[in-house]
Amino acid sequence: MTIQAQKGTKDILPGDSQKWQFMEETAKEVFSNANYQEIRTPIFEATELFSRGVGTTTDIVNKEMYTFIQKERSITLRPENTAGVVRAFIENGMHRLSAPVKLWYHGPMFRYERPQAGRQRQFHQVGLELFGIEGPVADAEAIAMAIEYLKKLGLPDLSLEINSLGCPKCRTAYRDRLKEVISKNIDKFCENCQSRLDKNPLRILDCKVSQCQELLADKEIQDVINSDFICEECSEHFEKLKEYLDAMGVKYSVNKLLVRGLDYYNRTVFEIKSNSLGSQNAVCGGGRYDALTELLGGQPTYSVGWAMGMERLLSLINYDVKDYLDVFVVSSSEKEAFLLAQYLREHGFKADFDMNCKNFKKQFEKASKLNAKYAFVLGEDEISNSTVTVKNLATTEQKIIKRDDMLNFLNQV
Ligand code: ATP
Ligand code: MG
Repeated sequence: MTIQAQKGTKDILPGDSQKWQFMEETAKEVFSNANYQEIRTPIFEATELFSRGVGTTTDIVNKEMYTFIQKERSITLRPENTAGVVRAFIENGMHRLSAPVKLWYHGPMFRYERPQAGRQRQFHQVGLELFGIEGPVADAEAIAMAIEYLKKLGLPDLSLEINSLGCPKCRTAYRDRLKEVISKNIDKFCENCQSRLDKNPLRILDCKVSQCQELLADKEIQDVINSDFICEECSEHFEKLKEYLDAMGVKYSVNKLLVRGLDYYNRTVFEIKSNSLGSQNAVCGGGRYDALTELLGGQPTYSVGWAMGMERLLSLINYDVKDYLDVFVVSSSEKEAFLLAQYLREHGFKADFDMNCKNFKKQFEKASKLNAKYAFVLGEDEISNSTVTVKNLATTEQKIIKRDDMLNFLNQV
């Protein structure tokens, strides 16, 4: 019996891998232009990192983690990367670096979820974290980076939603009032929301179940949601963030129901949605998480960041750049063809040859199929005269040049 890939995982095959490289290269270009540096952390971590760092009231920790015991140690495949980056930040004493510390990452994440369009068990995220800055300029830059990246990928029709969750001080009263009004009808909410009521009532606001959304439309609940609960400092932070976004010409809407799935956010949260995706339409989620570093045992550190699901980006990208070769070597001698291709590669040209050394006609066909600009023909005459016949495959023009002139020729065209 053949062995198949696990449910919820996918092979990334040639044809798609070019798109992935485009996403990764664009990320590197956009983020390093703004002085962000890449960080690569391990794919597995101590389970406790996520239960503490992501939070025990989240879906991720409650039901989505890949956890196993190895020599009595509980290990988890990372379901997201902020906790891992913060662990690395603390462990490597990065708080001693001058602020801001600007990092980005990309790589696979693992969540045990029901696979569907836009939802896998092994998926990929690209993300960014900015440490050490209290002011809203950090939130603004993080959001600007996300928008700039999506723009460079050529993604149309996106909308940015922002919200402020306030700080632990101002949020407590809001939470209590919300809990009070929701509890009146709590038996009509979904089971998930019922268990959220005590642990994390804010999360009820972004429940995807339509019945819960309808219940939230209740006037009394809406009055609490729309009240200005955040304190003066939090409000000023939020207003300044909006000023930055306006000044950059970034369009946004304030969504008071936006709370995000993770427990650790404070003040700014945001989400970027694609209007061209179905129900799994969130491509980017992020926010400020000033308390996390301390929660994980480090120095208190202001932090803001976001993550994007790369599979969802992939489905939106219109990337159709064909691979090409500078030269395909056509020869009756597989050894000569190999040596010439290798010589050209060493000098920085994209070159290939036919390992099966089929007849010339077949080799020319292969050259065209591989989108080669030139065929370098090495017949017996050329080999004995140290020349090559160069054929431009677009114009079919051909001429004989000396082997010593090959690199000059390729550098000039
Ligand atoms: P959702 O509400 O769609 O479950 P989330 O709140 O769990 O998203 P985050 O943890 O904030 O998502 O992750 C950020 C991004 O990662 C999401 O916006 C999405 O694009 C992507 N993502 C999350 N889970 C998956 C998955 N199982 N498969 C593919 N992409 C995912
Ligand atoms: Mg989720």
